[in-house]
Amino acid sequence: RRALGSLGKSRAKFISAEESTGVTFDDFAGQEYIKRELQEIVRILKNEEEFQDKGIYCPKGVLLHGPPGTGKTLLAKAIAGEAGLPFFAANGTDFVEMFVGVAASRVKDLFASARSYAPSIIFIDEIDAIGSKRGGPDIGGGGAEREQGLLQILTEMDGFKVSTSQVLVIGATNRLDILDPALLRKGRFDKIIRVGLPSKDGRLAILKVHARNKYFRSEEEKEVLLQEVAELTEDFTGAELQNILNEAGILTARKDLDYIGQEELLEALKRQKGTFETGQEDSTVIPEELKLRLAYREAAVAILACYFPDPYRPFTQTNIKSIRSQPNMCYNDIPGKVFLKKSDYVKAIVRACAPRVVEEEMFGVDNLCWISSKATLEASRLAEFLILQTGMTAFGKAYYRNQSDLVPNLAAKLDALRDEYMRYAVDKCSSVLREYHSAVETITDLLLEKGEIKAEEIWAIYRRAALIPQVDGEYMGSHFLGGLHLPLAMLDFQHLV
Ligand code: ADP
Repeated sequence: RRALGSLGKSRAKFISAEESTGVTFDDFAGQEYIKRELQEIVRILKNEEEFQDKGIYCPKGVLLHGPPGTGKTLLAKAIAGEAGLPFFAANGTDFVEMFVGVAASRVKDLFASARSYAPSIIFIDEIDAIGSKRGGPDIGGGGAEREQGLLQILTEMDGFKVSTSQVLVIGATNRLDILDPALLRKGRFDKIIRVGLPSKDGRLAILKVHARNKYFRSEEEKEVLLQEVAELTEDFTGAELQNILNEAGILTARKDLDYIGQEELLEALKRQKGTFETGQEDSTVIPEELKLRLAYREAAVAILACYFPDPYRPFTQTNIKSIRSQPNMCYNDIPGKVFLKKSDYVKAIVRACAPRVVEEEMFGVDNLCWISSKATLEASRLAEFLILQTGMTAFGKAYYRNQSDLVPNLAAKLDALRDEYMRYAVDKCSSVLREYHSAVETITDLLLEKGEIKAEEIWAIYRRAALIPQVDGEYMGSHFLGGLHLPLAMLDFQHLV
């Protein structure tokens, strides 16, 4: 068989290539029906000609969806291992957060690599990062770039014929609801398999897989102990069960014992539950100053989300338990058609400025740090999207896929118009934050005290601040939203064309 040789080194860094994963279906336990379905695909991959004679083709794409840690990657590797095919993996997030044009070219690289070793398997983890709905309300964060990558995936999948040089594309996501429907159409990811949390029997089976290389006093004792752990671990994923056994093994070694016993297992279970409940993140390790910055950031994002609420994407809660370059605010994406107006885009741009504006306001322009730098990028990308791709601005009604479509004088015009939108958005954002200064402080304090805050509490604080007479003494009327009467948030961007 061909050796992949130096493929891992010579090709792009974001692709991980394995000639043989060495993983089999025996490594995945529980949810037997999933294995049965996938085994059939493996049979077709292995005996392509025989099946083709009968008119049976392997699907081009398989989508595995379910919570993280439930074994989706493991299953993808098992398909490759069982079929004896090389495995090319990439992560959806590697395609975005990049410069214009990179997403599409990375997708091309991935497919080209896999095709040159066909038959082969492509695995795209977190495919939602690149394949989320187009034109939806969450177009922020490189919408245009992401769309390019998504279109490239569709082109690649439509491009290869089912009968020859088979490349099976396996995608994984925990957000089936936000995937672009185009991905799920016939001839693309048309086999969709849910990988859920294991049942009690499933948990026992998974524990047994990971207990294979561990020492117990006897087979009988092992059975009894694993049964007990399976009982106590409702809602645990395979990855968490594996952790429990590993942790128990470490505790056993630390105590210089020869066999894993009940005490070690229960101790490991307790530890796993601890990390499980705090979301695997320990807020105590975040330095105080960074916590304060995070709290201000989340508070500002929350106030803007109240001032310019997005009806398609209500927020649910936020916290300061993890440090990321993007806000921690969580949203509830409402599926279905959206009808975005120009003012909705402008509001989104204003909202996106919040992290940067509040950090400059509170810490000074010389003391900005990286936790707000993505915000500027996101806001200007949104502005570019509005200008280039919606036909809603004076820029014109043509649709430009990206900047590289522009002739030089149009590029200069784009820059100027985008800057105008950005200047407006920053001003608007900072006047909202000043107006609601006290609410920002209250939310910041609560976040520092409790680590998290729910939407209801945020709305209550916002509403209280909104009912205080405005600076100019004018009450601007009210409209009805989510059962709350709010002052009507005003946009005054008519001068922006
Ligand atoms: P996902 O891709 O769904 O996030 P992974 O495949 O990365 O999950 O799972 C991480 C690890 O957890 C696997 O490598 C495996 O060791 C273990 N695991 C998860 N689910 C199972 C399962 N059903 N059976 C056996 N091991 C599992």
